[in-house]
Amino acid sequence: MRSDKNCIFCRIVAGEIPSTKVFEDDSVLAFMDISPLTPGHLLVVPKEHFETIADMDPQLFGRLASTVCILAKATNRSLKPDGLNILQLNGKAGNQVVPHVHMHLVPRWNEDGLTI
Ligand code: IMP
Repeated sequence: MRSDKNCIFCRIVAGEIPSTKVFEDDSVLAFMDISPLTPGHLLVVPKEHFETIADMDPQLFGRLASTVCILAKATNRSLKPDGLNILQLNGKAGNQVVPHVHMHLVPRWNEDGLTI
């Protein structure tokens, strides 16, 4: 499995940097964003290091997306937001800051004031 010792999400996957994990299987990890846009903001990542979605095997991306779907249901049950945003950014020009594929799950409330 490809891992990058300089990648913060690879280091989270390896347990070298602490995170608040909410889901884990053999290929996917979900954890709380350290700087949440709203309460319950999650990141879902492949355990293997891929910089962008275009570097991934489509089947693995399917597992990532399925996990997001399951966590969206769990978020709706537990936090009862008014809406949800799923965001996935690729490349510097696409505003990706951490170069390890991740999907944001951002719960939204009518009056949360967020403009994304
Ligand atoms: P991007 O702009 O889609 O690359 O977003 C990267 C996200 O990673 C941001 O929402 C950051 O708050 C989040 N992040 C950066 N470092 C950590 C960390 O150590 N733990 C959890 N989330 C992080």
